[in-house]
Amino acid sequence: MNEKKSDKNKPEKPFSRRNFIQAAAMTAATLAIPGCSRKEKPVLTTLTGDFDPLRSYPYRGWEDFYRKIWTWDKVVRSTHSANCTGSCSWKVYVRNGVMVREEQAADYPRINADLPDYSPRGCQKGGCFTEYVYSPQRLRYPLIRTGERGEGKWRRATWDQALTMVAEKLLDNIYNYGPDTNSFFSVIPAMSPVSFCAGSRLAHYIGGVFLSFYDWYCDLPPGEPLTWGVQTESCECADWFNSKYIVLWGSNISQTRIPDAHFAYEARYNGAKIVCFSPDYNSSAIHADLYFRINPGTDGILALGVAKLLIDQNLIDVPYVKEQTDMPLLVLSGTNRFLRESDLKNGGKEDIFYFWDTKQQRAVPTPGSMGSEQKTIQLNGADPALTGTFHVQLADGKTAEVTTVFELLKKEIVGYTVDKVAVRTGLPANEIELFAKELGTRKPAMIIHGAGTNHWFHNDLTNRSFILLVALTGNTGKNGGGFNHYVGQERLWPEQGFFKFAFPETRKKQRFQNTTLWSYVHSTNKDPHLYNGKKIEWYIQESVKNGWMPLWPKDGKKPRAFIVWRANYLNQAKGNEILESSLWKDLDLIVDINYRMDTTALYSDVVLPAASYYEKVDINSTDCHSYIHPFGKACEPLFESKTDWDIFHALAEKMAEVATKKGLKPFHDEVFDWNRDFTQLVHDWTGKGAIQSDEQAVNFILGNAEETKGMTYQQLQEKPKRFIATDPESWNSDIEEGVAYTPFKHQLKKKRPWRTLTGRQQFYIDHPWYIELGEQLPTFKEPVEEKYPLFWNTPHGRWSIHSTWRDHRAMLRLQRGGPIVYMHPDDARKRGLQDNDWVRIHNEVGHCVCRLQILPGEKPGRITMYHGWEKYLGFKEGGWQSLTYIKIKPTQLIGKYGHVNFRLNYWGPTGNNRDIKVDVEKAKV
Ligand code: SF4
Repeated sequence: MNEKKSDKNKPEKPFSRRNFIQAAAMTAATLAIPGCSRKEKPVLTTLTGDFDPLRSYPYRGWEDFYRKIWTWDKVVRSTHSANCTGSCSWKVYVRNGVMVREEQAADYPRINADLPDYSPRGCQKGGCFTEYVYSPQRLRYPLIRTGERGEGKWRRATWDQALTMVAEKLLDNIYNYGPDTNSFFSVIPAMSPVSFCAGSRLAHYIGGVFLSFYDWYCDLPPGEPLTWGVQTESCECADWFNSKYIVLWGSNISQTRIPDAHFAYEARYNGAKIVCFSPDYNSSAIHADLYFRINPGTDGILALGVAKLLIDQNLIDVPYVKEQTDMPLLVLSGTNRFLRESDLKNGGKEDIFYFWDTKQQRAVPTPGSMGSEQKTIQLNGADPALTGTFHVQLADGKTAEVTTVFELLKKEIVGYTVDKVAVRTGLPANEIELFAKELGTRKPAMIIHGAGTNHWFHNDLTNRSFILLVALTGNTGKNGGGFNHYVGQERLWPEQGFFKFAFPETRKKQRFQNTTLWSYVHSTNKDPHLYNGKKIEWYIQESVKNGWMPLWPKDGKKPRAFIVWRANYLNQAKGNEILESSLWKDLDLIVDINYRMDTTALYSDVVLPAASYYEKVDINSTDCHSYIHPFGKACEPLFESKTDWDIFHALAEKMAEVATKKGLKPFHDEVFDWNRDFTQLVHDWTGKGAIQSDEQAVNFILGNAEETKGMTYQQLQEKPKRFIATDPESWNSDIEEGVAYTPFKHQLKKKRPWRTLTGRQQFYIDHPWYIELGEQLPTFKEPVEEKYPLFWNTPHGRWSIHSTWRDHRAMLRLQRGGPIVYMHPDDARKRGLQDNDWVRIHNEVGHCVCRLQILPGEKPGRITMYHGWEKYLGFKEGGWQSLTYIKIKPTQLIGKYGHVNFRLNYWGPTGNNRDIKVDVEKAKV
């Protein structure tokens, strides 16, 4: 080839968005032609032959392409919303309408000069998102299914055709079966509230059922609503640096908190010691000063053994425990119920409680309980007894024996001796003692808590045991201390603005549903276990009958339509195959709104192409930091995709059009006494026409929240901003200038009551089901019995955020390129397995076939597959959820108990999965 020819090969037109997309498609197509490999291209013959790149190189345009990556027309600030919790601000560089690359924004304002800063933050997935935007996975047009669900046969549809089909079905369901047969599923508003609200507003105005996600994903730590009366409260990650003792418990921050792990590791330069509990020697364990290779599912017994050591060795913070916890509260010996005012006086209140004042030698009402007139927990000179047995006179004149919660706790944990705990956990007794001593003496100390311990059936008990440790040692409510749970991006800072926008006629007029319960009841899921001799179905019926948990649709109806956006329900569903063969069959219409073809999209009837993270306007916040920053439209949505905001706007318009054409009369929704006029739907949906654009939507949320008052979308495009205040309705600490955020300072410093029935950190739950099941106090229960030898561990991984990026070329290259299960060499040897074998993982529920990787760092008795693999991504058979099913814990079904009431994503059964067990054999492939 000569230079003349190479000149001819140079692109004649300047680089443009259209050329780029065409070229990318052509390259992909060429490489996909059988027999046409790069090796056979003349260009490579030249390279391997008489190589003189400056003279004989045939086409140099590509070099220019790379050079020009460092030139751009504009930079737009955006981020990613895959529930990573990172919430990292990025700059997206755009040239000729093409997003050419992204770069971490490094302009987070510093909190103070002594704390490491948040800039720059990001991870390797975020750093290659532009490739996703233009990848073959990208959905380009509305699609309507023509084959079986999951078969992958589609026809291209116009927006009008697809929306008409959806609108007609939703309206038919409302008028023929009731509005509660239309169900809506979207996750994590914090990561893009405008996208979330676009659909939640539609669900709200058409009376649809809005499903939860935080409990269903088992990211909710149920011990927090039980003990603290909050959904989740954690310090921002900069506060890790303030700690002197960091316990990584079930949290592999090096893999799952990539932008923030440095705060913990840098804390070592600030005098902190790091402890790591994890069955596998993982990438966070290598940073630990003390590493405990704990047996899976035994974290609870360890925590209670440590609590016993703290108490026995007088390492507890007595004044803190007396003021801030329910440990001094009195419990009636006969009934195991708290002593209440109603026990002592006729007409007394059910929500006033007592402690024994050693100064007055009598039972006195606890200040700050739900029924108390005093809105403080200040003891005002009283000195509550922590130990002892006392007598009180009841309203009927009889004398009753009472004792303290602390006495009962001591009895509860008396059997958790260090030797017993050492045997069960597989840890050395002397190191458990060392841990207890250090936890009791190094201040402040914190637990960084993750899914590794939260995804178990008895997660509430484990949470409560961990919270107990940091309460006994007086660490909660202090910078650098506490129990800090990070699973899921649940913290929506401008919460009040969000709620006003998401459910405009108030949350009281919305049908909300816990998804774990919905998925269990509307499928053939069956939990074979008995709880206190009763099946879970009995507890479900009682709970629904008592009005503790809602169950939609009512009257034995089945859900008929299911709309999913910003989520991958089927990929993440415990009991995935059971759901597919039951719930899925009952649904007449499944709509998936998505920018890529994931498992849920593949198994849908209508797929609507959505804008990617770099093609829309929205905002983003997280519990990991105290800043807000935006998504930006680096490009208009590619192909025929639309933003979620525009999609639901168009659907609202279409429903109004169909309702008008059909002459539909307003539908009277009896549950809310609401006349729903669907001909006016778009008017309602746009806030009576006031909010047309996504930017207006952002500004509405910002302007209606204390945290962001005065901020505008355009300001956020300039740089991330720290929140300016915290709404006392939603928060338990102020946001302070120069100080990293940590919760519960209101309780510790301002002496505000905790948001619980007793007004204190409540470790004793005297609900009848808790007493019946022996869980009124933190206790240890073994994982739910399964017959197989290996625990099936499916944690968050390094190379994807759940299922997002699972199919990304660059991320697949960093691993073995397909689903892999990790096994300890001993377990492999026992089964005659070699590295890279195809293996069949199986149990009574199902099986999957994938490759094996032998990993000495894995714990014998457990195998691990990092979660999120799409079913179509390299399994020979089945998928990672083929082995799971839904198990509901009875105590998580309670309600109407003081602070424990159903609230979406706040209280309800969690979709746990870590107790599942399996076996592995060589697969015949
Ligand atoms: S994917 Fe999440 S953690 Fe990674 S860069 Fe984006 S926002 Fe940050």
